[in-house]
Amino acid sequence: MNAKTVNKILSDTSYIRIGGTAEELRCAEYLRHVCAEMGMDTVIEPFDIAMYKEECACLTVGGREIECKGWFGSASGTVTGELYYLEGTDNISLKGCRDKIVLTDKAMGHKLYDMMEENGARGFITYNGNINFSDRDVDRKEIRFFAENGVCMPGVNIHVSDAVDIVKRLPSSAQITLRQASYVGQSHNVILDLDGESEETVIISAHYDSTSLSEGAYDNMSGCIGLLYLAEYFAATSHRRRIRLLWCGSEERGLIGSRAYCGAHRDELGDTVLNINLDMLGSVMGGFVAFSCADEQMAELLEGFISKHGFSATVRHDIRSSDSNSFVLYGVPAVSFARYAPSGTAQIHSRYDTAEVVSAERLLDDMRFIASFTEYAANAEDIPRNISEKIRSDVEAYFKRKL
Ligand SMILES: [Zn+2]
Repeated sequence: MNAKTVNKILSDTSYIRIGGTAEELRCAEYLRHVCAEMGMDTVIEPFDIAMYKEECACLTVGGREIECKGWFGSASGTVTGELYYLEGTDNISLKGCRDKIVLTDKAMGHKLYDMMEENGARGFITYNGNINFSDRDVDRKEIRFFAENGVCMPGVNIHVSDAVDIVKRLPSSAQITLRQASYVGQSHNVILDLDGESEETVIISAHYDSTSLSEGAYDNMSGCIGLLYLAEYFAATSHRRRIRLLWCGSEERGLIGSRAYCGAHRDELGDTVLNINLDMLGSVMGGFVAFSCADEQMAELLEGFISKHGFSATVRHDIRSSDSNSFVLYGVPAVSFARYAPSGTAQIHSRYDTAEVVSAERLLDDMRFIASFTEYAANAEDIPRNISEKIRSDVEAYFKRKL
């Protein structure tokens, strides 16, 4: 693979591909097509996913209509109340939620939701964006957490400039009307096997879906190109263990593709010695991080490997919000690789995540390192297979918090 190919794939896939949509499937078929051109057969595995259709999302504040998008998975209905800006999550701030439509700038998770509900909020408003940018993009949000009593409040998301404007104009009366229908749709994982001499398998994963505003070049076509690099590399290189490349759907909607994979392939996971997950690589700016989502021994192995290869990288014994968590949940140790761009140079989950953020040369550098680590994992006599208590409990807490 060369820089020209990297840039062609980034250009071919420069469209939004939300989990469960036709565009996501179009990308799965594209990945299959690229593999077929290299002479390799893939399997596309479908799985069910909840889909939503917005029939009406309307927010008025002080009699003025504000552009908004409903939180998928929040409640349908109409709620009215005074608008309240929740500045913090201290008791005094929370008490002010009673009978109000609550605007928050905190990440909406299960704790915040439960606290708002306990304190009598009627509906909630979140916002996205940067007030210094010229766009007016409103992102689509989705409930991905478990709420103690179910999600009974309607919620909408608005642009930051409207949020600031609303707070300047307080006190105001507000109304949210939300109507959405839900149905079961399908998302897909793409699988390519490169057989070795044994039944033991190393799975390398990367998600190919994106969020509602994003072409997802950096997050995560970069990792998907990484898998294509490995397909080409290992087709020409013999290896002891099977190498399975897994392009996951619907990661952005809650690691749903990787969890569906682990559920459907539960019987094979005993032979799966390691998951290597690629999510966000090759950014022009930023440093490389290797996560051991396994144990300290794996972290030491990564340290040793990195210094032997003279590669510049930091090792962390930690989890990250990506498909590696699903494998750990099912007892498969994982490592996860990323190159983290400073936020002023790349904005994921927005219109700014384009091919401009990715350097083809840098991505190929990252992949040379990852290919040699994968080669090691596929051939080493023994590789650590323990998952530390810390990683296990962090992953359990992650799924409880997020889903
Ligand atoms: Zn990602």
